[in-house]
Amino acid sequence: LERTFIAIKPDGVQRGLISEIVSRFERKGYKLVAIKLVVPSKEFAEQHYYDLKERPFFNGLCEFLSSGPVLAMVWEGQGVIKYGRKLIGATDPQNSEPGTIRGDLAIIVGRNIIHGSDGLETAKNEINLWFKPEELV
Ligand code: ATP
Ligand code: MG
Repeated sequence: LERTFIAIKPDGVQRGLISEIVSRFERKGYKLVAIKLVVPSKEFAEQHYYDLKERPFFNGLCEFLSSGPVLAMVWEGQGVIKYGRKLIGATDPQNSEPGTIRGDLAIIVGRNIIHGSDGLETAKNEINLWFKPEELV
C-alpha cells in the first residue's frame, strides 16, 4: 500500500496545530504507520531539502526546519501521496484554497507549517531518511 512522509514543521508544532493536522489525515481514513518528534540538525535538514539546494531560500529554509521540534510521520493509504498534498494545499498559503491545511492555518510561504512528499520516489527516500524500518508498524 502506498505510503507518504508528512512532517509538521517547527511553526506548526510551536503553534499547537499537531492534533488539528493529524486529525485531518485520520478523518480522511489514512492509516498512521509511524510518528515521532525530532529536532533535526541543519545538516539533516539540508539532506531533506537537497533538491532545493540551488534556491535562494535554501539556507533559511534549512535553518528554520532545524530550529525546533518537527513531528515526523508516515501515512498509508490508496493515493495518499497525491491526495495528502491536496489536503495540505498549495506551497504558498496565499494561493492555498480554504479547506486545505495551509489555506486554513497559514499565511506566508516560509512558515507553511507542514511538509508532504511530492512523489513515489521522494516518498520512499524521505521515509528512509527520517525513519528506521523497525519504526514503521
Ligand atoms: P514541502 O516540500 O515543504 O512540502 P512544497 O513541496 O509545497 O513544500 P517546495 O517547492 O518543495 O514546496 O518547497 C519546500 C519549502 O520551501 C516550502 O514548503 C516552503 O516552506 C519553502 N519555500 C518554497 N518557496 C519559497 C520561497 N519563495 N520563499 C521562501 N520559502 C519558500
Ligand atoms: Mg516539496
